[in-house]
Amino acid sequence: MLKTKKFQKKKENFTCENCGKLIKGTGYTDHCSNCLYSKHVDINPGDREAKCKGLMKPINAEVKNKGYVIYYQCLECSYKFRVKSAPDDNFEKILELTGKPEQNNFSVKNEK
Ligand SMILES: [Zn+2]
Ligand SMILES: [Zn+2]
Repeated sequence: MLKTKKFQKKKENFTCENCGKLIKGTGYTDHCSNCLYSKHVDINPGDREAKCKGLMKPINAEVKNKGYVIYYQCLECSYKFRVKSAPDDNFEKILELTGKPEQNNFSVKNEK
């Protein structure tokens, strides 16, 4: 049997380090719904194991499975990851990200 880590759900509020908005945690909240910035805190979603704690900048977004996927890059260590957008995310910001042609060459491996 593979050792699998359970997805950890934590309800935690946080203040966005980019725009200063207080975000109310729902247990799935991993990024600011206002400016979409995130923080490099997870190795696996929800585990909060990453030591970096750098600010994750949203650099691109695309439509996927009737929702949006937001791509991030850590401003500290350049680590890249992507998350599904949340229903209360700032939609205009997402649209801005989807319209960035100069970043269309950004790619994530192991695409399903
Ligand atoms: Zn923010
Ligand atoms: Zn980082």
